[in-house]
Amino acid sequence: MDFFADYHTHTKFSHGKGTVEDNVRAALAKGLKKIAISDHGPALFALGVQSPDTFLEIKREVEKCKKKYPGIDVLTGVEANVVSLKGELDLPKKILDQLDLVMVGLHPLTIPLDFKEGGSLLFHYWGGKCSKRLKKKSRILNTKVLLETVYKNKVDVITHPGHKMSIDTKELARACVKTNTALEINAKHSDWQRDFIETAKRTGVKFVLGSDAHSPAEVGELEAALRLTEAAGLGPEQVLNVL
Ligand SMILES: [Zn+2]
Ligand SMILES: [Zn+2]
Repeated sequence: MDFFADYHTHTKFSHGKGTVEDNVRAALAKGLKKIAISDHGPALFALGVQSPDTFLEIKREVEKCKKKYPGIDVLTGVEANVVSLKGELDLPKKILDQLDLVMVGLHPLTIPLDFKEGGSLLFHYWGGKCSKRLKKKSRILNTKVLLETVYKNKVDVITHPGHKMSIDTKELARACVKTNTALEINAKHSDWQRDFIETAKRTGVKFVLGSDAHSPAEVGELEAALRLTEAAGLGPEQVLNVL
């Protein structure tokens, strides 16, 4: 089994080190057939893109690369943030509609839309570090918010589910089956994912491998994720970027 695409790569537009072209060249050098540029949405504190419109700039860079490197398919994507308990994202629909791939990840450094409501998610997350009760509530809220997100928006992939922000995997995976959303097996945060994969795979949910590259050298570094996939007995019928 081998992989042919990396859908999770960041550039200088958010928290990455290289340009769009650097990532594309790195993907080509590793023999990939497809790459997505999926920078952090603007609500990620100090690490996101400058504004929603930055994705239009990224899209223009992607279009240039598509012409220059016909040997590889380049997608404009996003790793968006959830900014309210209602599952709202940090990009307006008019921008989301112009992207090829919408990924969403929960991040503890997200700036909520309004602190009264969206802040509750972060309050329980940070509070959960010293209180068991808040930790339990945090897991319930994280799961609820991701369910709202996949039902409200057209989401292609949930990135690193359960990383830092604990979730009920079975409940999320079932919702993702209904909404045709894949769950990511992240190559960077590998080992703890065994349990999540075991639980999720029984629901029939689709998976996608992602490098979460923050530099061109990390683009296509999917071996750790591939090993987890193979260990779980998953094949191309359930994993979208392997053959
Ligand atoms: Zn992330
Ligand atoms: Zn990422």
